[in-house]
Amino acid sequence: MKIKVVRLVFILLLLLAGCSPDLSTSNLPNCTNSDCDCSDFATQEEAQRVLDAFPDDRYKLDRDGNGIACESLARGKKTTTNPKAIASSNIHLKYGNPSNANLKDTNNYLLEKPQYALSYNCKTGIPNWVSWQLDSGWLGSVERSDDFRPDSDLPDNCYAVRPNDYRGSGYDRGHLAPSGDRTISQSDNSATFLMTNMIPQSPANNREVWRELEEYSRELVSQGKELYIVAGGEGKEKAIADGKVTVPKYTWKVILVLDNGNIENTIAVRIPNNDAVARTDWRDYIVSVDEIEQKTGLDFFSAVPKSIQNKIEAKAYK
Ligand code: MN
Ligand code: MN
Repeated sequence: MKIKVVRLVFILLLLLAGCSPDLSTSNLPNCTNSDCDCSDFATQEEAQRVLDAFPDDRYKLDRDGNGIACESLARGKKTTTNPKAIASSNIHLKYGNPSNANLKDTNNYLLEKPQYALSYNCKTGIPNWVSWQLDSGWLGSVERSDDFRPDSDLPDNCYAVRPNDYRGSGYDRGHLAPSGDRTISQSDNSATFLMTNMIPQSPANNREVWRELEEYSRELVSQGKELYIVAGGEGKEKAIADGKVTVPKYTWKVILVLDNGNIENTIAVRIPNNDAVARTDWRDYIVSVDEIEQKTGLDFFSAVPKSIQNKIEAKAYK
């Protein structure tokens, strides 16, 4: 009885304040009954409706508190086919779309997830590159979800690689966007286990040098830096899964390091994808961004003015 009175007074107060709550949630997505996160929505507008209905942001759809929900989601009105335009609306492509990935070329096929963006190659069965932003907002303490699975976002005429395609190959299912970079929520972590985020990686590369650079990146974030990372494979060592999946000769990664929003420097590595790299240091493989651009034909950080790009891409990290 007492509770009912309190509730009634509360609603009356709200009405008096001229902001009567919309008690009908019938047109909101189902997840509002349990727990929503950005990956529950197909479009930014859909997420925005939920944020507008729950301004206390109980589902944490507005990490940066600017009133806009799930900014990395695609806009509902798909009027934009210009990759540059897509780039500017997706945080993971803020500094450029390295191959002008798009929705027409199945060997340079753009996939935009809330957690990362990538260019997929249906012919090689691996991404050409994966790009993701990293700051402390992505880092929490959820467990590795380990739910490796095919990516259902690929077009119908593209083979969706399965977790078992790597079985018995001697290569790891190696993450490009690491599980450890997406630990703020279970669904963000789970997204890194899609097979479109994997390349066949030699165990010594994946579990040692590569992992150590991943850890170093998170160390930079703990010092307050913001990173924009792009990673992929280069060349062809062999193919596995009856030719459906290419094993790259090298793994590479380029990192744009920002401090208080200002570009500080870049880190680039090119590491052989074999077990000869055991017990080596990732610093042994430092090259310039320019060298990765030459080897891969990609253009990183194309959204950065050319004069600054030239400077930051020529210098190897110290
Ligand atoms: Mn790994
Ligand atoms: Mn460039």
